[in-house]
Amino acid sequence: MAEQYDYLIVGAGFAGSVLAERLAEDSGKKCLVVDRRGHIAGNAYDEVDQAGILIHKYGPHYFRTNSNKVVDYLSRFTEWHQVSYQVLVWTDGKYWQFPINLNTFEQYLGRPSTTEEMEATLAKWREPISNPKNSEEMVLSQVGRKFYEMFFKNYTRKQWKRDPSQLDASVCGRIPVRTNRDNRFVTDTFQALPQGGYTAMFKKILNHPKITVKLNHDYRQLGQDVTYGHMIYTGMIDEYFNFSEGRLPYRSMRFEPETLPVEYFQPAMQVNYPNDHEYTRVVEIKHATGQKAPVTTIVREYPEDFGPGKEAYYPVPAPDSKALYDKYATKAQGEKGVTFVGRLATYRYYNMDQVVAMALTEYEKLKAR
Ligand SMILES: Cc1cc2nc3c(=O)[nH]c(=O)nc-3n(C[C@H](O)[C@H](O)[C@H](O)COP(=O)(O)OP(=O)(O)OC[C@H]3O[C@@H](n4cnc5c(N)ncnc54)[C@H](O)[C@@H]3O)c2cc1C
Repeated sequence: MAEQYDYLIVGAGFAGSVLAERLAEDSGKKCLVVDRRGHIAGNAYDEVDQAGILIHKYGPHYFRTNSNKVVDYLSRFTEWHQVSYQVLVWTDGKYWQFPINLNTFEQYLGRPSTTEEMEATLAKWREPISNPKNSEEMVLSQVGRKFYEMFFKNYTRKQWKRDPSQLDASVCGRIPVRTNRDNRFVTDTFQALPQGGYTAMFKKILNHPKITVKLNHDYRQLGQDVTYGHMIYTGMIDEYFNFSEGRLPYRSMRFEPETLPVEYFQPAMQVNYPNDHEYTRVVEIKHATGQKAPVTTIVREYPEDFGPGKEAYYPVPAPDSKALYDKYATKAQGEKGVTFVGRLATYRYYNMDQVVAMALTEYEKLKAR
């Protein structure tokens, strides 16, 4: 006989897991969570490698948020390890402070400076673009061409295989420019990693008598074995519709870990390489997790085209992909038995906290039905 559930939830990442927990705990619904990967936690998955170092398998996941609601919710499942995320850029043979701030400006000048001098210089360097329409215009309007070429242009081209002029202003606009000495990567009020790691947190989120988790299962393989009242879908929206409107563009990535017999390899958690090497960045997550060990593991990230056998890591924020996504969004509205939630299902370049907030909001809508 078929197994019966109230909800079939496709994907055990933040979107699927938070919705499963809310539906099970708050509404007493019986949920089946399926993921085609062999683990829970989606892209936030972390694991201890052979050298005993906790690594983020799908690229570094720096949790940060300004939402008390999101922090309060996740704090039911984890303690936190406070972090101030630090990023450097390697170019012209040395490390530079990043995001750009007064320290970066002083490095550039090769002498001490002031906020006033930096502001006056940027005012001269900035290109007069009042309403930036793409990422190139965004950066040129903030810092001018010199810093655009040093820090943004080639990094963005490597990462997205598109010129910044072909990407939404929000892609480079996410990165702040400061004229003070604030070296933090982001300024959100809450910046921390789950104390025991993401996977441990997800185990607690999904640990509920009304939640069943099936790994290594594509939901399309379930067939007649399972019946359910409603589906929550957190995978790629174009795949759900069998690419009927055409394929949405995504960027993929190859992560190459290397363990080294030193306590630390580099001076910060993340070093970006805009102008050297094929990889975009080297991440040494130990700086952020605070793990103490005599060896270290670094991960080099090589952006790749998305295709067969590759994971779709990034929706591409650009006008052409948005137009194609809108066609799928219209189709999704007609799927009455399905709720589309999360980064791939809504084709948005969302951070983890935004996905948690989105899942909590979707839960309230489902509850009200
Ligand atoms: C390299 C990288 C770095 C990032 N860094 C940060 C960061 O520093 N800070 C931050 O806040 N956010 C970061 N993010 C974003 C973060 O990963 C996402 O916001 C979050 O993971 C989205 O959760 P989700 O549940 O929507 O999707 P996912 O985590 O992608 O989960 C979707 C799940 O659905 C499963 N699935 C898809 N189709 C099927 C199917 N047909 N059958 C069964 N299962 C299926 C997939 O296997 C996947 O596990 C980063 C993302 C990437 C790729």
